[in-house]
Amino acid sequence: ILNAEEQKLTILHTNDNHGRFWRNEDGEYGMAARKTLIDRLRAEAKDKNHHVLLLSGGDINTGVPESDLQYAEPDFKGMSLLGYDAMAIGNHEFDNPLDVLDKQIAWSNFPLLSANIFHKSTGEHAYTPYHIFKRGELKIAVIGLTTVDTAKIANPEYIGGFEFREPVRAAKPLLEKLETKYQPDITIAVTHMGHYVDAKHGINAPGDVTLARNLPHNALDVIIGGHSQEPICMEGENVANISFQPGDKCQPDQQNGTWIMQAHEWGKYVGKAEFVLKNNKLTLLDYQLIPVNMYREDMVDGKKVKSLAGERIVEDKQMLAFLAPYQEKGSAKISQPIGQLIGNLEGSRDKVRFVQTNLGRLIAKAQSESVGADFGIISGGGIRNSIKEGNVSYKDILQVHPFKNRITYLSLQGQELIDYIKTAANFPPDSGAYCQFYGIEFQNTSEQFTIKSIAGKPFDFNKRYRFTLNSYNAAGGDGYPNMTKHPHFVATDTVDAEVLKNYFLKHSPVNANTL
Ligand code: ATP
Ligand code: ZN
Repeated sequence: ILNAEEQKLTILHTNDNHGRFWRNEDGEYGMAARKTLIDRLRAEAKDKNHHVLLLSGGDINTGVPESDLQYAEPDFKGMSLLGYDAMAIGNHEFDNPLDVLDKQIAWSNFPLLSANIFHKSTGEHAYTPYHIFKRGELKIAVIGLTTVDTAKIANPEYIGGFEFREPVRAAKPLLEKLETKYQPDITIAVTHMGHYVDAKHGINAPGDVTLARNLPHNALDVIIGGHSQEPICMEGENVANISFQPGDKCQPDQQNGTWIMQAHEWGKYVGKAEFVLKNNKLTLLDYQLIPVNMYREDMVDGKKVKSLAGERIVEDKQMLAFLAPYQEKGSAKISQPIGQLIGNLEGSRDKVRFVQTNLGRLIAKAQSESVGADFGIISGGGIRNSIKEGNVSYKDILQVHPFKNRITYLSLQGQELIDYIKTAANFPPDSGAYCQFYGIEFQNTSEQFTIKSIAGKPFDFNKRYRFTLNSYNAAGGDGYPNMTKHPHFVATDTVDAEVLKNYFLKHSPVNANTL
């Protein structure tokens, strides 16, 4: 334990990378510019006698096809080159089968941490719970925590063997153990739980504020978070600065003696927190969210004007040379047109989770066709983008279907079929579970539920019908009944994006207006 001697630490942080290893069309973010920035911040820290930790709040996976198609290999290897010290395991780290995450752990020269995921069978930690860092005289404990919502939103096929324990319940005993065993000078949590102002987490699982408030005062010095994908910039106590823009000053949240920080998403910013530790007291000297070639909008003479926030950061040449082949390979795979679309297919989040849309119908139709089903269903939350009129590429398809779910089908009859459809039809709007249908008509009122027709013919109570759904919903995703053990359940090896792609190859031009 250190006394009078003053020690300084700079924490650099990002979160929710979501496949964004490459810059966007406007030249914003990207790991090559981030490398230049981080190298500069490391040099500045060294000049000021600061030790440095580079941390991530998780969700490296899923978001852009160029990354998704390569299982985020450029992202994890890129993070290793950037010198990340640790990251939290996010819910999207479970979008692929578990052996992919194992591979990603092997690609990373830093630990992926989570202290609240346990094997149901053995009660053991499923992943590395914490890591102790030595920086000069400083001993720093970093623990990882993952939202318990993962159990609800990740693919149940993959995570069925895990218990996601309440973070407070998992962290408390661990922090006590670390205190006894290591007496760390600084204790940090990298989390992927979301920051909800004043702990008002709504329908989401409790996040970082709840965690800080329910641990002993100052049990954690700092939480480096993710998941809610926001810049945590406060205007006052429990009041967020909602007008924050790239380049603005940012005051992180503080709850029960714990700083809570998050750097929005995608590497748009590198968060920089400069601390001094003296007489066992950790003080925040300075905090900044440093934009990585981000544009901001200001009102100038009554007009909106876009401008770069700060100086342009040039991309690091070596990093660029490392990433470029991945970007080229990824985009070559997916940019050629595979078909034409007349009209637009509606897949925006504020539609597919609320009303039936033509893209919902098309997906369920394409999947029905692929397995010879009478009708099809899919939860609206699984549809992640719209498709615009014109040429359609595999990239467009992968943005609709990033999860690589397999097509499955089920044959049900009579009351069992009615009960299942009734359950699916009653998931409320404004939830990911809200169901999209094709090939079935029903009447659904508070008094009664009746199936009118299937595949264009009147419903026959005594007939067995085949319907298709993806492996996510079949395994209980979004709270759908788990049907995987049903004797009439069949899982195919075909992936959803392949099915939609094949539909376009076969039926182009597809007319969105007649769906
Ligand atoms: P995060 O906030 O961590 O990025 P997210 O953006 O996926 O997570 P939401 O936007 O609330 O969180 O989306 C959750 C919805 O996404 C679920 O209700 C479900 O419909 C859909 N979803 C999530 N994972 C899958 C999956 N593997 N397959 C199909 N649909 C999924
Ligand atoms: Zn997340």
